[in-house]
Amino acid sequence: MDQFNTHLYEQVWTDLNFRLDRIGVDQGLGAALLALRDHQLETGFITDDLSEVERIRLPNRRGNRSYYAQYNPARARRFSGSGVTEPPPGAAKVNDGCFLCPENIQWQQFGREVGYDLQFDDREYVAWMNPYPLAPSHTVIAARNHIPQYWGATPHHLAHMVHDLLDLAHFLPGWIGFYNGEGAGASIPHHLHYQFFPRPPDYGRFPLERAVWSFGGDSLLDPVLVGRYPLDFAYWKGTHEDVVRRALPWIAAWARKARIDPDATANVIVINQDDGEGLQLFFVPRDRRRARSKRMTGIVGGLEVLGEIVCSSEDERRRLASKELNYKTVKDILSDVSVGL
Ligand SMILES: [Zn+2]
Repeated sequence: MDQFNTHLYEQVWTDLNFRLDRIGVDQGLGAALLALRDHQLETGFITDDLSEVERIRLPNRRGNRSYYAQYNPARARRFSGSGVTEPPPGAAKVNDGCFLCPENIQWQQFGREVGYDLQFDDREYVAWMNPYPLAPSHTVIAARNHIPQYWGATPHHLAHMVHDLLDLAHFLPGWIGFYNGEGAGASIPHHLHYQFFPRPPDYGRFPLERAVWSFGGDSLLDPVLVGRYPLDFAYWKGTHEDVVRRALPWIAAWARKARIDPDATANVIVINQDDGEGLQLFFVPRDRRRARSKRMTGIVGGLEVLGEIVCSSEDERRRLASKELNYKTVKDILSDVSVGL
């Protein structure tokens, strides 16, 4: 599509959104997002079919626990952008060319990238497909407006962000969603966004989910879980309403205390189990000064916190093959970025 043709772009957007709304009403939000993925494959915006990706299980010596590594060389290319940094005449560049502002996306991606408008109450989001996916149908759900990811810089408080994350997850049975705070895996910290993908069919439960069982399972009274996973975390499970009621006051109280420390940040992960068991919410405190570990190239984000590290360099592939990068390395990576609760 000609990137100058704003009228045509708006027409494509309107038609697609009308179609996705109908799919959403009939089959749910997940089906609408899968249809968005199909559209974005057709336009050529997404080209990565994940065929280069290998998922490697890293068991401990006893073989009763594992972490995972994902070798995903395309992820290393994600900061290269489309190469277009200046808009054509007549098009606007807003917020320094932010990659999540719809005004920029039209000309940056030559009209191929189209989003899906989501609105609940007075909050507006746009769903976009991630061109460098961590899993099939990896979707970025970004605020419509240019609001920062860091809750301390905005009246849009952390508990409100988690509330929106829970509301989105509620409509996505079988999907996993996360919020990566600034310095905790967010690659575009200037614009609020969440990541979502359906749990791939060949994936079992993630190590972080399994860790809950080592604390006694789902019937825990205290949400704070310390000592049996390399990261401290808080955990709630229940219906959407139940998790909102119990977790949000706790998170709001944590954020009030954390505001004293300008480097406090967090990963928040929500899993809609698709087995009628409701939502699981994991809250993992982080520190912006420890965004990464020396033991791996990338930043530690939500997927790493779940127990799956993403490797994208040839050197990491070699270290995986020689088992130099193993169960203990992942455990150490998570320990390197842990913050006490
Ligand atoms: Zn933006």
